[in-house]
Amino acid sequence: MKTSIARNIPFFDYPRLYQDNKESLLKIFNEVSSRGSFILQEDLRNFEANLANFSNTNFAVGVGNATDALQIALKIGGIRPGDEVIISTHTMIATAGAIIHAGAVPVPVDIGEDHLIDYDLIEKNINSKTAAIMPTQLNGRTCNMDKIKDIADRYNLKVFEDSAQGLGSKFKGTNAGTFGIASAISFYPAKNLGCLGDGGAILINDKDLYDVAISYRDHGRDPNTGDVISWGINSRLDNMQAAFLDYFLQNYHNVINRRRSIADTYYECLNNVDEVKLPPIPKNSTEHFDVFQNFEIRAFERDKLKNYLYENGIGTLIQWSGKAIHHHKNLGFNQDLIKADQFFDQILMIPMNMFISDDDVYYICDVIKNFYK
Ligand SMILES: *Cc1c(COP(=O)(O)O)cnc(C)c1O
Repeated sequence: MKTSIARNIPFFDYPRLYQDNKESLLKIFNEVSSRGSFILQEDLRNFEANLANFSNTNFAVGVGNATDALQIALKIGGIRPGDEVIISTHTMIATAGAIIHAGAVPVPVDIGEDHLIDYDLIEKNINSKTAAIMPTQLNGRTCNMDKIKDIADRYNLKVFEDSAQGLGSKFKGTNAGTFGIASAISFYPAKNLGCLGDGGAILINDKDLYDVAISYRDHGRDPNTGDVISWGINSRLDNMQAAFLDYFLQNYHNVINRRRSIADTYYECLNNVDEVKLPPIPKNSTEHFDVFQNFEIRAFERDKLKNYLYENGIGTLIQWSGKAIHHHKNLGFNQDLIKADQFFDQILMIPMNMFISDDDVYYICDVIKNFYK
């Protein structure tokens, strides 16, 4: 059954990333192309400096995508073949894939009520092969890094962050991506800071490690002499994408504010719907500053709700096509993670982006309320 006003609210409106910024982007395209500045040029260096500055860290290194960023971070950060790396099972396959391609073994752990890694279970998964913990700063929320750092310190483990969804989010005032040895940011178009294609960055505090990353992403070449100083790969953030991103970054504080305001409206309007469980509210907490990469709810009769929203013109998404890491039995995972199993039967992401209006948000809430009436 449809409500009276027909609408079309896609989960993410890809063409509008361009349309809403057309004039500026075309100007940048023309300017950068005219200079012939396509690979490793000043636009990339400027963006890297501005990104590091924004995240309150020393260095940022632009690479092809966040999956490469993770793999590079792990390799240059000292992860060795056979090492085990503890991750949340509620993350993208990229988190686990990067560990595999670094020669190590991903160990998925169950999740807590906040959709993030269950801190108490981390310790239970530590053994003599464990080398690192790599939490995912999921849905735009930074994990309780005090707890993770405490465990890492006690067991002498390294910390990396999959911060692909976390840019600008904070825990106790410290930015996602700056807690561990190195971390990854994604500029996939639908990410909070998205470009017009693939893109990613590594955030690093240590100067020596930064030098290694700069050379590793460019075949292991020394940027000054061109000498090959070690084996590397080719994973450079396109100079053009960096120029676009530098433009988008200037407006990023408004993006964060807008997403937080949409979240406020969702909390306000859906608070009394018993069949829906909202992500834990960060507002009353001084610990978490969330940037809402996604607004992931838990819903009673999720599949029926998803269909009902679709019939009413509202696009939704079940994260990772409904599969947690440990569900990929074909890839060799054999963990039994019951909380995540139950969780994944219920989770649904409703629209959360710069392209939806307040009116859209109220409409989405009304449709959800109608469904459970
Ligand atoms: C998007 C995402 C990635 C991968 O980012 P790419 O830039 O597409 O490689 C990795 N981890 C998480 C949690 C993500 O959301």
